[in-house]
Order: sequence, then C-alpha cells, then structure tokens
Amino acid sequence: MSRITVPLSLPTLVKPTLDTPFRIDYEWWERKGLHIGMELRAHLCEEHRAVFREHFDTEKIDWVDARTGEVTQVDGLQHVLQIHCSKQPGYVSEHLSLVDAIFRIFLANGNTPLTCQELGTIVGQPPDKILRTLAGRQVYKGIRPARND
Ligand SMILES: [Zn+2]
Repeated sequence: MSRITVPLSLPTLVKPTLDTPFRIDYEWWERKGLHIGMELRAHLCEEHRAVFREHFDTEKIDWVDARTGEVTQVDGLQHVLQIHCSKQPGYVSEHLSLVDAIFRIFLANGNTPLTCQELGTIVGQPPDKILRTLAGRQVYKGIRPARND
C-alpha cells in the first residue's frame, strides 16, 4: 500500500523580498535586554543631546509647543526625535551607515513600515543592497519585517 507523505505544517518562514515592509521591532530590544534609550540618544540633534544629558534618568520631559506655548509631558526621546531632530539638516546623510540611516527613517516616520524599495528611494541606495542587509542572519538595531498582526 502506498502512502503519501504529507509534510507537517511548518511555520511559514517567508523570505523577505523587496516588497516586504520592515520596521523597528521594539520588542527585539527588550528580548535582547538592550536599552533603546541609549541608542535613541545617539540620534538626537546637538540641542537635544544637551537637554537629555541633564535628564538622563527620565524619559519624560515637558514639551513646549512653540506655536501655542502649551506645555505637555511626553515620552521624551522618541517624540523629540520625530518632531524636531529628524527635521534638522543632515539627519539622514551619506555619512551614516546604511543601518543608522534606515533606523533614523523609522524614528522620523513614527515607525511606519516601509519596504526596501521605499527605503532605497529615501536613502538613495539600491533596494537589493538594503534587502541583503536587513534580511541577513543578523538583526541590526531590531529592524525586522513587520508582522501582519
Ligand atoms: Zn532636536
């Protein structure tokens, strides 16, 4: 009697393609026991580096809206990066490593997933080079394919 071998259902390890959206997986940082705060500091503008040097232990700062004068308490680093530092000239430049440039793009856009095609357009690098970097064995700075959940 012949038997058909039915493969056990394996978890689908879909290889990322140029159209796979990536983003920063903040849980990866937690799992690794790494402090993203230290990493985020490295991407602040000079002005905010000075501010956060004095507020090392706190993630919350008073944010003054320049237009309305309204003061709000915000999650300091990420918010400041998104609304100020990422808008300064040279935030994403050719002097950065590819990984740092991509990391900064996600900090600037609120971690909206982007494909390697889209990232390539923004950083001015070939999308396949970005894919080789991001889809390799090593995860850089938690930049991983965005899960569909
Ligand atoms: Zn800034």
